[in-house]
Amino acid sequence: MKRKSTLKKLKKKDKTWDIVIIGGGATGLGCAVDAASRGFKTLLLEQLDFAKGTSSRSTKLVHGGVRYLQQGDISLVFEALKERGLMFKNAPHLVSNLSFVIPTYDFWGGPFYTIGLKVYDLMAGKLGLGPSKHLSREEAIEALPTVGKDGLRGGVIYQDGQFDDARMAVSLAQTCCDYGGTVLNYCKVTGFIKDEGLITGVTAVDQQTKDEFTVKARVVINATGVFADEILQLDEPEKREMITPSQGVHLVLPREFLPGNFAIMVPHTTDGRVMFAVPWHNHVIVGTTDTLVGKHSLEPVALKDEVDFLLNTAGKYLVKQPKRKDVLSVFAGLRPLARPEDETKATKEISRSHKILISISGLITIIGGKWTTYRKMAEDTIEKAIMLGGLPERECITKHLPVHGFRMDADPLNDPMAPYGIFKEEILAMGEEEKKFSGMLSEKLQIYKAQVIWAVRNEMALTVEDVLARRTRALFLDAKESLRIAPEVATIMADELGKNDEWIQKQLSDYNIVAKNYYFTD
Ligand SMILES: Cc1cc2nc3c(=O)[nH]c(=O)nc-3n(C[C@H](O)[C@H](O)[C@H](O)COP(=O)(O)OP(=O)(O)OC[C@H]3O[C@@H](n4cnc5c(N)ncnc54)[C@H](O)[C@@H]3O)c2cc1C
Repeated sequence: MKRKSTLKKLKKKDKTWDIVIIGGGATGLGCAVDAASRGFKTLLLEQLDFAKGTSSRSTKLVHGGVRYLQQGDISLVFEALKERGLMFKNAPHLVSNLSFVIPTYDFWGGPFYTIGLKVYDLMAGKLGLGPSKHLSREEAIEALPTVGKDGLRGGVIYQDGQFDDARMAVSLAQTCCDYGGTVLNYCKVTGFIKDEGLITGVTAVDQQTKDEFTVKARVVINATGVFADEILQLDEPEKREMITPSQGVHLVLPREFLPGNFAIMVPHTTDGRVMFAVPWHNHVIVGTTDTLVGKHSLEPVALKDEVDFLLNTAGKYLVKQPKRKDVLSVFAGLRPLARPEDETKATKEISRSHKILISISGLITIIGGKWTTYRKMAEDTIEKAIMLGGLPERECITKHLPVHGFRMDADPLNDPMAPYGIFKEEILAMGEEEKKFSGMLSEKLQIYKAQVIWAVRNEMALTVEDVLARRTRALFLDAKESLRIAPEVATIMADELGKNDEWIQKQLSDYNIVAKNYYFTD
């Protein structure tokens, strides 16, 4: 993934791409991997950084969605369970198997969830991650010593997956390149070129240099999540809005709030939502909420009510009641939910299934879905692209396609370097070979200096935020610690990229503005 040579390729006037994808989140990157691995000339353009949007802000679950089973969305659960199994097989360096405990407090809870989760196991079939099991009160307390014991009757334990979303996104970008595809971050699509009303390409602006250029394409895919309406309106200015953004907030706490190896799933909070408390990179993520916000933003901000709700609810299940001062990072993401015909529906009732729309101009738009189902969403979308672009029929091969860095013996649950897969030793060796990269940037977060250089050289990281938010997960794990190491990251990057002091100062001031939303000052 080299920026200079990629830009050169883009500016070749006579080149026509088979498929151009707008948006570098889970959906767009999935499409890019699918298209490139079928041998199509594939280009993906992302306006900022890969996974800058919702795709770095998920609850980090690779799951069938026990909740959707409760809502009777059987086909979504079926699809997601199958995809969960494939993701686990194709990216064992990024996805791990995790045990979830549902504590039960009423008479019906135990049998209800035990039966429900047996169905969940059966639906996963051969791709199951292990059987669920009823727990007695004593067993539930043994698994979750921190759980509220008042009225506790027992629990159910089941298996689901967990992953690092932004690292997965970067690895998918690299997988696309491994198969001859081209990806570019910091390149915003600003318009379409058309011939007799049909889209034949896009105009784009390099956000680093402000250079504008056009690229020709047989078919264009809009995979911009909550931004999809903007792209649709570039094509048809009068188009009705298709997306309802719904905000979900997460709090990150120190690991001591949930020691042990189990995650907690609360199927019914006081206001009928689902809440998870999940160990992640030696911390605990608590989430999430579901708040209709009306408009999208690149940096959505957690509302006080959402934070209070999560703190109060989590207090019933964790070692002790967490307070605002315990929160190391708070992050919000926007669900690109497909707007229902019936706009009075509550957001938690809107289906999470994906929808593919085809505009009169030939633009393909994919909206909705989940990280877990990114591969199937991509397969469905590329099938449509083949038809629309008159491309040769070629089989989808992503069901059994290893993700860049694939490594069987990785331990993503316990090893912070596991997401690098087969490149882990090479990165650690860089630190040993060159003194200036040796040692750790943060002992607390287990981040090495060499990871910064690796991110710049191999992962298209261009800003301090790229490194601290998405190549390492410092911002999402501990916002203040990320601010502490930011000056060293900026200096290492400036040295590698040939930038001056002014660049360093600008990067740090930009990073401060973003990071401010990830911690509380009161
Ligand atoms: C709170 C929350 C928790 C979730 N938890 C889970 C979970 O645990 N498991 C799970 O499976 N799913 C989960 N999801 C769902 C999952 O995260 C999303 O479905 C997925 O990330 C959406 O990806 P996307 O690519 O469609 O959108 P995005 O990630 O938002 O990507 C769209 C991209 O398009 C880019 N873009 C926009 N305009 C342009 C332009 N003009 N030119 C170029 N690029 C452009 C944006 O910068 C952005 O990067 C969660 C979602 C939320 C909100």
